[in-house]
Amino acid sequence: MLAGVGRSWFSAGRLVVVAACYVGGTVFAADGTGGRAMVCELYAPGHFGNSYEVVGIEEMRGILREAKHWGFNRYGDWFDMLDCADPFVQERQYDLGNALWDSKRAHFRTAQSLVLACDLLITPNHVYRDQLRFEWLAKTTQRIFGQLICPSKPAARKAILKNYANLLADLKAAGVRLSGVAFGPYDYGGCACEACQPWIKTYAVLSHEIYQIAQKYHPGVEMHHIGWWWSKQEHERFAKWADAEAPGVVKSIALHIPYGHTKVGEVPLPTGCERRAFVHIGYADRAKPRDIYGHFGPVIASKRLAKTVADLRKQGVVGVMAYSEGVFDDVNKALLGGLFTGRYHDADVVLADYAKRYFAAKPAQAKRWAAWLTAWGEPFSRDATAALAELDKLSGEASDWRRRQWELKARMIQAHQAVMKGRGWTPERLEHVQAFWSAQEVCHRGVWGLGPQRHIFSRRYTPLIWHRSWAKHQAETAGELQSDQ
Ligand SMILES: [Zn+2]
Repeated sequence: MLAGVGRSWFSAGRLVVVAACYVGGTVFAADGTGGRAMVCELYAPGHFGNSYEVVGIEEMRGILREAKHWGFNRYGDWFDMLDCADPFVQERQYDLGNALWDSKRAHFRTAQSLVLACDLLITPNHVYRDQLRFEWLAKTTQRIFGQLICPSKPAARKAILKNYANLLADLKAAGVRLSGVAFGPYDYGGCACEACQPWIKTYAVLSHEIYQIAQKYHPGVEMHHIGWWWSKQEHERFAKWADAEAPGVVKSIALHIPYGHTKVGEVPLPTGCERRAFVHIGYADRAKPRDIYGHFGPVIASKRLAKTVADLRKQGVVGVMAYSEGVFDDVNKALLGGLFTGRYHDADVVLADYAKRYFAAKPAQAKRWAAWLTAWGEPFSRDATAALAELDKLSGEASDWRRRQWELKARMIQAHQAVMKGRGWTPERLEHVQAFWSAQEVCHRGVWGLGPQRHIFSRRYTPLIWHRSWAKHQAETAGELQSDQ
């Protein structure tokens, strides 16, 4: 839904260009990178009921256009096959798998039309639900889970390769020319069976086979990897494998940055492989208490992202992949894009320009907006009632989705703080809980237009610290009501 999206997208935003120039949609930075092209990728997986899964084609065009405005020059999406049947099996029905894939194909076309390079993200042994044959299943562990089959079983491997041949050929048929395929071994991925050990090597060989298929349909396509959850030993093994078996093939690895950290690990890379970073923009400044994935509305991490960019520069990182799970991280997109590409040198200036662009702020208002937004980096210690009063005096159209999501965040935190002050499940405290859920629902349904929330977005994964106690109370109350009847 994203009510009001598009209204302000055409308004001119003034940029402070400090040290960058643009050639053919690629950013060449002049500070600290020796003039090399800096990749700034928006990885926006549409899945689990997040906003990228539900947005329409024109809404996504607006999102991508704005991402480009803030500095992004690359776009990636992942076909998360969870709950999906194989869309390439000819059936009379058009189900979730068909709808999601068609939407991704359309978004890639849009990105390409905006001169954004396109990457298909691939978690190789994650498959469609109708491929989960008992004899093919992967061996799972705490870290290896999902719809996985074992690539060491020949028929299962054949099915995996066929899946990607279908997807890559279909993108080509749709006129999409992929710049890269980016692989990830975990989440969802992996197999703990003996034949697949060490997993990173099995993954490397399988990825390479898929990469060769990709080359057939998308000549010149690059091979990238995402270091999410890799151990140091896995990096060592992977680098050794790549140098021996596929020298010069791995273009980059987007290295993992653990929660609360701002640097990538010092790990060996294959020869010639670019050091990039996988930057989580879906949570606030601090990792604890966690404000993440839109459970408390939009997020901002101006201090964390500014420090991350500074640290990555020192580490020689030449590209970032922003891990984005929805429009709730809109401000963080502006911050990471603006800062990493060197277009801005200061988070406050990014935020002031954000307020000018979307909230029609004059310079004095823009500064106040920057301060107001920055303070939500630590939402749990902020006086939400005071923040709401300050918001009343700030510029912008009250119904605009970008502004409205922040008002609803303030209302959620206000209700949360009221719940935290009470003890026991008194009627008054339960009313505050109700106020929290109401504000969250308006944000999710009325502003972001979300449908059924799965996995990390579902209420069972809420970071609310009173949730378990409240849910227990609700269950007990329901039990009492039942026994009364
Ligand atoms: Zn296996």
